[in-house]
Amino acid sequence: MMRDRHTPTDPVVQRVIERAEIEGIELVRFLYADHGGVIRGKATSRSRLGERIGTGIGHTVAMMAMNMLDQLQEVEQMGPVGEVRITPDPSTFVPLPYAPGGAAMLSDLRTQDGSPWAACPRTFLKDAIAELAGEGYTAVAAFEPEFTLGRRLPDPAGGPDRLAPLDDSLCYAGTGFDTAHDYTVRLIRALERQGLQVEHYYPELGAGQQELSVRHAPALRAADNQVLYRETVRGVALRMAMWASLAPKPIADQAGNGCHLHLSLWDGTRNLFDGESDLRSHFVGGLIAHLPALTALTCGSVNSFRRLAPRMWSSAYAVWGPDNREAAVRVCSALGEGGENLELKPSDSSANPYLSLGAVLHAGLDGIRRRLDPGEAVTIDPDTNPAAYQRLPASLDEALDALEADEVLMEALGPLRRTAYLAVKRSEATAFKGKDAAYETFNHLRVF
Ligand code: GLU
Ligand code: MG
Repeated sequence: MMRDRHTPTDPVVQRVIERAEIEGIELVRFLYADHGGVIRGKATSRSRLGERIGTGIGHTVAMMAMNMLDQLQEVEQMGPVGEVRITPDPSTFVPLPYAPGGAAMLSDLRTQDGSPWAACPRTFLKDAIAELAGEGYTAVAAFEPEFTLGRRLPDPAGGPDRLAPLDDSLCYAGTGFDTAHDYTVRLIRALERQGLQVEHYYPELGAGQQELSVRHAPALRAADNQVLYRETVRGVALRMAMWASLAPKPIADQAGNGCHLHLSLWDGTRNLFDGESDLRSHFVGGLIAHLPALTALTCGSVNSFRRLAPRMWSSAYAVWGPDNREAAVRVCSALGEGGENLELKPSDSSANPYLSLGAVLHAGLDGIRRRLDPGEAVTIDPDTNPAAYQRLPASLDEALDALEADEVLMEALGPLRRTAYLAVKRSEATAFKGKDAAYETFNHLRVF
């Protein structure tokens, strides 16, 4: 059955067209995130915008079988025959401050008849949100990315390019504020102009490492924000002849770039995670129970597992604790900041944010439904007693094994999406096997 499509005369479409004219937009990018965690898209010219919002832009189904090295995997129903439409959500239209004349919209992948495609990642998150709503909850989330700022340096010996960090300033140190200042101010302006509210900024622990957090938002918006954020961090850097990367471990001997995921459930206007409750405890129980499998989605790349090591504040054990920065799930205290929330630390920006947040919601919901007990709160660094705690997966392959064994998440992903995701991610694990750190790093740097 043909689904309702936007027409060029819809008020929401008219508003986009008017804004595009006023802002002098020539190209509008329809963006989505793929199974490799890569942000991709196609762009329409302004003259076709009104029509394209309704019809989307045609796209081969095979792109959801492409890995982050642009190697196409063999997945049934994702071969050379078949077409989906990259269909934008007009409410997300935003001019791109780092690409004058350009704008973007976050997009769904739809079939020819306009219904969501079974492998559309944004739909996966929307479905998880709907399932949560069925139980009476809404989710509010914030991705908290770290990234490394520097310059792209060729290797004189002809090897892969590397990221030379901007500075060697110390953690939270005044010198770091100064070296990155011009970039940071441009980044903040660019994010704010796209509607992302900046919370905090500081130079972080590693060479060239920056952390700039944005305010929480309803779950779908939070994932859309993470796409805009990733694009903006890199786009602003490029325009300043710099290179920025959110890769989990862009420099092997430096701190990793996390993207901790903050989350709370709400009932109308009330934050249900503010203060201890059975609900919060069961949600944590769900996260802990599904953690090994979740990491396959929240820490989606080979490079992710270089970051997840003990004593790096990235978490390495499947434990939870109040304000414990070595626990995979930290219950964050709050002082007038919208209340307490959960922080998932095994999470980084190489993940597809729609799949990762959707999977986290499914895991938490399973905890609520089965009233799962999260175990004792851990109030020490778990690495001081490693035998007592479960380690997180040590590699992408290990995480994928856990995902394949996790009935709840496999069921939630559904047949087409899980088949494609596993094929893409297994292929990445294989492609980097036996390759050196420079090759791995470069290939993550150029994407994330
Ligand atoms: N860089 C750490 C990570 O990889 C996080 C440090 C912190 O902000 O606590 O997750
Ligand atoms: Mg940090």
